Amino acid sequence: MLRRFPAFAVTMLLAACAGHARVAAPDGALPPVPMLTRAQWGAKPPTGPMRPHTPTRITIHNTGERSRPDLPLDQKLRALQTFSQRDERMSDGGMHHAWPDVPYHYYIDIKGRLAEARDWHFAGDTNTTYDPAGHLLIVLEGNFNQERPTPEQLATLRTMVSWASTRWRIPADSLAGHRDFARTDCPGKNLYPQLDSLRAMLRAGH
Ligand SMILES: [Zn+2]
Repeated sequence: MLRRFPAFAVTMLLAACAGHARVAAPDGALPPVPMLTRAQWGAKPPTGPMRPHTPTRITIHNTGERSRPDLPLDQKLRALQTFSQRDERMSDGGMHHAWPDVPYHYYIDIKGRLAEARDWHFAGDTNTTYDPAGHLLIVLEGNFNQERPTPEQLATLRTMVSWASTRWRIPADSLAGHRDFARTDCPGKNLYPQLDSLRAMLRAGH
């Protein structure tokens, strides 16, 4: 059916769809939902060099710790950065070696609020064995083997995935969960199955 349209008409239709559904900022450079910036949550500078990269994938994580609904978002980010930037023994007995900054690029808390994490121009970090270069890392607050992502969290995740897919031209098949790349439960059994509907959403062009 699309073949009956002149090419320019199809292009205009696609542009209109993308403009309506995905992009709020004129150039799509910023997420189309309110975001607590690094300056607003009081981020410290990175403690060392990071690897420049260009996102070609979107990879979803959970924090792996039970959510803290009453904690202000800025406190959550500062606590994550403090953990990230120092060596620390983890609850499973393994050792976390200090990273230059928080490992993820965007953080969605249990109330669906968005915070800027690591500058997306630089590859993230991990305690597991995959190479996160090229991965845009979005983390949701919670342990989704034990609890469920909230509707507000999933709504922000949908918006972010849709925006990022357009922003970096990332196809639906390049959206995945941490466990698709490394030996981990992340993002948890109650979030991982939701990724199918996110991929379907992207394939439908929203
Ligand atoms: Zn993860």
